[in-house]
Amino acid sequence: MLISSLCFIPFFPFHPIFMLVSLLLYFLPAYLARNRSDFTAILVLNLLAGWTFIGWIIALVWALSSGQQRQVAVPAPPAGPAQPASGTTFFCSACGKSCDAGARFCSSCGAALPATPR
Ligand SMILES: [Zn+2]
Repeated sequence: MLISSLCFIPFFPFHPIFMLVSLLLYFLPAYLARNRSDFTAILVLNLLAGWTFIGWIIALVWALSSGQQRQVAVPAPPAGPAQPASGTTFFCSACGKSCDAGARFCSSCGAALPATPR
């Protein structure tokens, strides 16, 4: 099918390299869309409608259009203001204010803090 149609083109001899290049070109839209979330849809369109050339153009445009932003769902850390984790804060011996456990000096009065128990 493909080979017989290619024989009508005078200067495109049937050559393995040419076949490989045309095959790579055929799957170019799917290759460009490899990082997209709708990669499967583009691949299916590329496979099923790519031989119609219009379908190939649509797949190529789809692969290139507005798809570079990859929606990576970043899981938000569970911000729990309800329960302060015990051990992360302690109280300054000089002023009595609560200080961070990793702090070397009190954030309220500036007094040097003792070695914090981890
Ligand atoms: Zn203090």
